[in-house]
Amino acid sequence: MQALKYARATSIDDAVRMLREGGDTARALAGGTDVIVQARERRRVIDLFVDIKHIPDLMALEYDPRRGLRVGAAVPLYQIYGNADVQRVYPALRAATHVIGGKAIQGRATLGGNLGNSSPAADSIPAMMALDGIAEIAGPGGRREVHVDVFCTGPGRNVLEPGEFIVALRFPQPGAHSGQAWERFIPRNEMDIAVVNAACALTLSGETVSAARIAIGAVAPTTIMVPAAAEALVGRRLSDETVAAAGAAAKATATPIDDMRGTVRQRKHLADVLVQRVIRAAAERARAN
Ligand SMILES: Cc1cc2nc3c(=O)[nH]c(=O)nc-3n(C[C@H](O)[C@H](O)[C@H](O)COP(=O)(O)OP(=O)(O)OC[C@H]3O[C@@H](n4cnc5c(N)ncnc54)[C@H](O)[C@@H]3O)c2cc1C
Repeated sequence: MQALKYARATSIDDAVRMLREGGDTARALAGGTDVIVQARERRRVIDLFVDIKHIPDLMALEYDPRRGLRVGAAVPLYQIYGNADVQRVYPALRAATHVIGGKAIQGRATLGGNLGNSSPAADSIPAMMALDGIAEIAGPGGRREVHVDVFCTGPGRNVLEPGEFIVALRFPQPGAHSGQAWERFIPRNEMDIAVVNAACALTLSGETVSAARIAIGAVAPTTIMVPAAAEALVGRRLSDETVAAAGAAAKATATPIDDMRGTVRQRKHLADVLVQRVIRAAAERARAN
């Protein structure tokens, strides 16, 4: 572990100032489940951690049926998947947050950290993208908002400028007859990095799909939206053929690599299978809503 300084921010302005003064080697510290490991293994040069878990706005989770859900970037995962409104209205987010690490990790880890770490295999990112999540960002230049689907720019890279950090993630209220689902494939039952993960949010008008958002992870340098999969569904009746066409579109869009967790061929196959599964599961929920 490298020697480093620790500072506790108690307000957003405090954190902005500390990160700005700390320069390139200062990092936001949320749960620390990624960044402390990276510092210990010297995979990142860090000499200041700015702890953002004592900023009230970053620790708040609010739901309102008109405005939707707002999750402070430092709210621990167990509070997200344990929230009754998240369970009822945002089951894709519940499912993704429920499987990240084990119980000990979920007591610390956060959505802001999962997004800030910007791994192509991060489990919450496909769910946040399918739900059309928005990241509220604070920094030396003031506040701005970035849609989660354009937040990550490469493995471990994102749109944050020096001194900026995520304050909260916002998710719109799903409309009537909407449903959503999230799935991943891992070789073991828990504590593993996804070989592929996928999420879908869709709206039905009768049995015709009127809107769809589909995202897949671990098949490209960042989690990606698959507009071709959504196009295969929207305006069409949900049938085995349309679902299969969406799965095929995901398979064609995926550009994975071979690594210790999976091959290109397996990952492309999984993109197809998981996208078909999340569409069917989302449609099932949409019929019930
Ligand atoms: C045993 C184990 C199992 C794991 N299992 C999974 C898994 O199944 N799925 C999965 O996706 N991940 C998994 N992870 C990785 C990790 O737990 C998650 O990525 C977690 O969500 C990170 O959140 P954190 O709050 O701990 O982030 P931190 O480690 O505090 O931060 C991660 C990065 O994001 C930055 N950051 C943190 N908060 C913000 C913010 N508000 N604004 C801007 N940048 C920020 C930090 O500076 C750092 O660069 C696992 C890790 C461990 C150790």
